[in-house]
Amino acid sequence: MSYINALPKIDLHCHLDGSLSREFIEKCLNKSVDPNELTAPYDCQSLAEYLTKFDLPVSALQTKGNLKNAVIDVIRQAKSENITYLEIRFAPTLSINNELSYNDIYEAVIEGTKEGFKAYGVYSNIIICAMRHHSEADNLNMLRAGREYLGDGICALDLAGDEAGFPNENFAYLFEEAVRLDMPFTIHSGECGRSKNIKIAVEAGARRIGHGICLTEDNDLMKLCKEKSIGFELCPTSNYQTKAVKPGMNYPLRTFIDYGIKATVNTDNRTVSNTTMSREYELVTDQLNIAKEELILIYENSIELSFANDDIKNKLYKTVSDYAK
Ligand SMILES: [Zn+2]
Repeated sequence: MSYINALPKIDLHCHLDGSLSREFIEKCLNKSVDPNELTAPYDCQSLAEYLTKFDLPVSALQTKGNLKNAVIDVIRQAKSENITYLEIRFAPTLSINNELSYNDIYEAVIEGTKEGFKAYGVYSNIIICAMRHHSEADNLNMLRAGREYLGDGICALDLAGDEAGFPNENFAYLFEEAVRLDMPFTIHSGECGRSKNIKIAVEAGARRIGHGICLTEDNDLMKLCKEKSIGFELCPTSNYQTKAVKPGMNYPLRTFIDYGIKATVNTDNRTVSNTTMSREYELVTDQLNIAKEELILIYENSIELSFANDDIKNKLYKTVSDYAK
């Protein structure tokens, strides 16, 4: 669709490591990299296979300079397709080493958002990811250190990793601490086919759900999510790759929109999924007859559900009226 590139877009679910350009990774590692080491095939067999593509990019995120420039690399890509606001997420504990503390890591990525805005005019915030396979101590230390920067470049907490192996009931400690610290959170849930994980996340206080694909299986839960205006971060290409959506199964975006669930469309991993926001928009317009007006509704949902401050939200709402002129 010719209008899609010009449409303003927001990406609320974008992993830093999975979205780095190959050129950037090669520069950091000072070696050439085979694209197959960074991109999952479209017929990838599982979330576990998909997750193997993150090893190399994470190895590039081990210095302050690389962390800062990584954020700028993703903002640069976003600018090229008219993304106006980005929430970039990453797992800080994967960059902890002898040289780097949490404070070093946070200051580096926040500097990246500031320099990225100066260079490209794209607003962005950072979401910090606890990892399911990390220890309780690591996840809590990461959260408490990050809370100090809430509103100053860091906007929320997430929980990522192997959802099937480490279900949400194991993380009450994390959700309770986030509530205690008044730290907003979004949780990867319902990517592995278990709607109970979505329910646990919502009851724990999550304002958004990463993926949430299997929500449509549970009518009561759908009703609850609608009543609470829970945001859903859908990532179509990634959801097909990880088999969150099985071949032949209807992609749930149309059902979400028609039911009144606050749905958004996002990339997940620009490089691992070999995608862009424009491609994700094209996919849903082609497969689900999502109309241009509905893409604008999705954009407005993204503004409302974002963890941005009111000043940025007001500027983003203005891009809708400017586009409509
Ligand atoms: Zn994700």
